[in-house]
Amino acid sequence: MKHNFGAGPCILPKEVFQEASEAVIDFNNTGLSILEISHRSKEFEEVVTEAEALVRELLNVPEDYSVLFLQGGASQQFAMIPMNLMPEGGKAAYLDTGVWASKAAKEAAVLGQVDIVASSKDKNYTYIPKNYRVPEDAAYLHYTSNNTIYGTEVFDTPKTNLPLVVDMSSDIFSRVINVSDYDLIYAGAQKNLGPAGLTLVIIKNSLLGKSGRVLPSIFDFGQHAKAGSMYNTPPVYSIFVSMLNLRWLKAKGGVGVIEQENIIKARALYDEIDRNSFFRGTAELEDRSRMNVTFVMDTPEKEAEFLQLAKERGLIGIKGHRSVGGFRASVYNALTMISINALIDAMKEFEENNK
Ligand SMILES: *Cc1c(COP(=O)(O)O)cnc(C)c1O
Repeated sequence: MKHNFGAGPCILPKEVFQEASEAVIDFNNTGLSILEISHRSKEFEEVVTEAEALVRELLNVPEDYSVLFLQGGASQQFAMIPMNLMPEGGKAAYLDTGVWASKAAKEAAVLGQVDIVASSKDKNYTYIPKNYRVPEDAAYLHYTSNNTIYGTEVFDTPKTNLPLVVDMSSDIFSRVINVSDYDLIYAGAQKNLGPAGLTLVIIKNSLLGKSGRVLPSIFDFGQHAKAGSMYNTPPVYSIFVSMLNLRWLKAKGGVGVIEQENIIKARALYDEIDRNSFFRGTAELEDRSRMNVTFVMDTPEKEAEFLQLAKERGLIGIKGHRSVGGFRASVYNALTMISINALIDAMKEFEENNK
């Protein structure tokens, strides 16, 4: 058995892979593959409608928000957000909590002025800055709710009067959120929602057209909202598989239920990291992510040995990102306690072997 701790693209439930594979051969008894049907067909229209309804139901999205299925990944949103929300000559505020946050700020700086309200770069992004001031004249405040590379997560939504924009690529659908706390939520699908190729955007309608800029239609949220995410051919298969995954999540009991499981899974792993004399967590205790658990060894020369043991035990994707080193176990929704226990057992075995 393989235990996939990869950071993204990553594990999805087995049932979802099964249904997704069947639809490649024969989609809903149409005698056609999901890959060949028209995106304007009644069959696919039903998929999009259900996918949107599931997003709205599972996250309790208020009526005055649009749910958009776009492409280009979270990285395209780094550029589209300032295009759509920041007026010519305007400015935006960014919280710098890692590589993704700073890439977002870098793209905004192409279009206007960027004010970095706080940064945790001084300690290699091992914590979430708190108690910073946000300029009142910025068009919005942007932050990253889960820092996939560094294993930190923002549990207290920033308080601000500005429109609040959040990159939730790696923790959306992992815990209960209050959508009305935000004005724009975006996420690349490939970490908890579905396959790569889809980007989810949830935007308050009053923000559409806010920047006053004349934009190419493909970069204009307003055009995508008006076209019901069908401005051009959408990522048909990614939307379909994401819809299956959201059905799975709903059948499990929804985001509140998965959040409790995620808390238990992360706690078990952090407990072992804290107990085991060979491993040490890298993130500040109060900011530890429930989705990406980062840890290192005090004896880095032994890291290769542990990776080898992990490989033998079927533990995949636990090598840390190059900017942190050590290990990273991504424990997204579909990863089960069986896999967590397999990793914990390997850590215990390693400790035993090296006594
Ligand atoms: C993975 C990731 C991204 C990049 O997503 P792409 O879809 O590859 O552009 C951005 N932000 C966060 C928080 C991520 O985890």
